[in-house]
Amino acid sequence: MAGLFIKRTEHSSALLPSVNRIDSTVTKLSSSPLSKLGEFGLISRIAGRVSGHESVVTGIGDDAAVTALSTGMQLLTSTDMLLEDVHFRRAWHDPYRLGRKSLAVSISDIAAMGGIPRWALLSLAIPAGLSLDFIDDFMRGFLGMAAENQVFLIGGDTCSSRSGLTLSVTIMGEQYPDLIVRRSGALPDDDIWVTGTLGDAALGLKVAEEAGSCRPAGDTSSLCCPPGPPGLEGPDTLLSRLLDPTPRVAVGRLLAEAGLVSAMVDISDGVLADFGHIAEQSGVGGCIRIDDLPLSVDFRSQTAALAAIPYQLALSGGEDYELCFTACRSNREKIIDCVKKSGIAVTRIGIVSSSLEVTAVSFDGRPYNNGTDGFNHFT
Ligand code: ADP
Ligand code: MG
Repeated sequence: MAGLFIKRTEHSSALLPSVNRIDSTVTKLSSSPLSKLGEFGLISRIAGRVSGHESVVTGIGDDAAVTALSTGMQLLTSTDMLLEDVHFRRAWHDPYRLGRKSLAVSISDIAAMGGIPRWALLSLAIPAGLSLDFIDDFMRGFLGMAAENQVFLIGGDTCSSRSGLTLSVTIMGEQYPDLIVRRSGALPDDDIWVTGTLGDAALGLKVAEEAGSCRPAGDTSSLCCPPGPPGLEGPDTLLSRLLDPTPRVAVGRLLAEAGLVSAMVDISDGVLADFGHIAEQSGVGGCIRIDDLPLSVDFRSQTAALAAIPYQLALSGGEDYELCFTACRSNREKIIDCVKKSGIAVTRIGIVSSSLEVTAVSFDGRPYNNGTDGFNHFT
């Protein structure tokens, strides 16, 4: 497939979208290795690193990709944008982990439906001055995350940006129709569960922000974890939950394929807000017990000196990329058993109610005043 567009490199003098190519006054990239490579050279470079799979009939290089769904399965599709200084900061996020995360957050959406992630499209709007090393490291992270999840990159779009790096990832997955889990299936009296631990990413961000620890913009010297903020215990666990989240594909699939859950969502904006989506779509409400929220050892040790546990980070902190699901009470033991294979713990944190309200309560049953409902782009 790569040969198809290698022939077109005569058009690749600058990494500019076609609308801009006729306007010689628009910002052009300097004569960096990236600008010399140009749009089609870069696409060719990316394509050269992509591995094939029997499900990818036609990959990068044609006008559209052709993929083969497994017999009897339906297609799941989701897309996410990541904007510099809205979703990430280049000063914080090394390109390798930015590449991993940009795909991980999309895979997480497929996991939340109990789907099997399969194919991805990657669109890049690249600002002037971004180095080829940055793109190479970004792609190494992206394709590493893809390989870990048997996802294949089948296309995308590449253009220049006048305002920061913009990444857009479209993920496709598949699953048998009866096994797909939606947000809309929760029933009153179901248990509310979550995978893993909550609040680590939010605490990692808070601690790092307070310590002012970030690597200088453009510094790609080290691809492993940057040193954590002073005082952070453990091997940067909290910060790596923020910078390098793991999508819960295996546990999502196990639960869906065992038919044990009634609704599911991934937690990107805090469990309170994301369970709120289940509640809204299912026409129910729910009560979350804050003392049952699963907190990591690192979270507990990092907050041990505080007068009160900052439960709001676990309720509304965001970027956990765990799964929140609901299930009939009679499935409790089966659920614990079913997820064992994944190595990820699951915890019951509340009960679905028939009243439409979503609340959080303290151990004494009093409403917990959370102060915030989670991250929202327009407030
Ligand atoms: P068109 O102009 O027909 O949209 P493009 O020249 O933009 O095609 O892209 C050529 C091929 O390269 C297509 O198969 C497209 O999906 C793929 N492609 C473009 N950018 C990327 C990218 N960033 N990552 C992966 N594939 C890409
Ligand atoms: Mg295009």
